[in-house]
Amino acid sequence: MNKDCLFCRIAAGEIPSDIVFENERIVAFRDINPVAPVHILVIPKEHIASMAHLKEEHQALMGEIMTSIQKLAEQEKLDDGFRVVVNTGRDGGQTVSHLHFHLIGGRGLQWPPG
Ligand code: 5GP
Ligand code: ZN
Repeated sequence: MNKDCLFCRIAAGEIPSDIVFENERIVAFRDINPVAPVHILVIPKEHIASMAHLKEEHQALMGEIMTSIQKLAEQEKLDDGFRVVVNTGRDGGQTVSHLHFHLIGGRGLQWPPG
């Protein structure tokens, strides 16, 4: 845990959030500033700064995050589709330096992004 990291503190329960799923390795909570009717952030509890910081040892964890996202999409009834976004680094528009997967849905989404 990185005590200066917002999402580490959310994962540790130090900062309240609307948690929709949690296990020993992963936590999912609603984004404070949703861009769609469903906007959930899925994060590893381990502090990984971004997608650019992934290592081989994270493969199983990343797979588990993907299947948790699929289950959350089902729970949230996103039967017409959804989008998973991982903003990475400055050009990718990442504002919180703890790897997070945005699960966005509940309305038709534009493509391409700006
Ligand atoms: P990024 O821009 O790094 O891809 O995404 C960061 C996301 O975290 C943004 O969508 C932002 O609304 C969300 N966020 C920032 N601070 C908080 C917070 O304290 N609680 C929650 N639930 N979401 C946050
Ligand atoms: Zn962190």
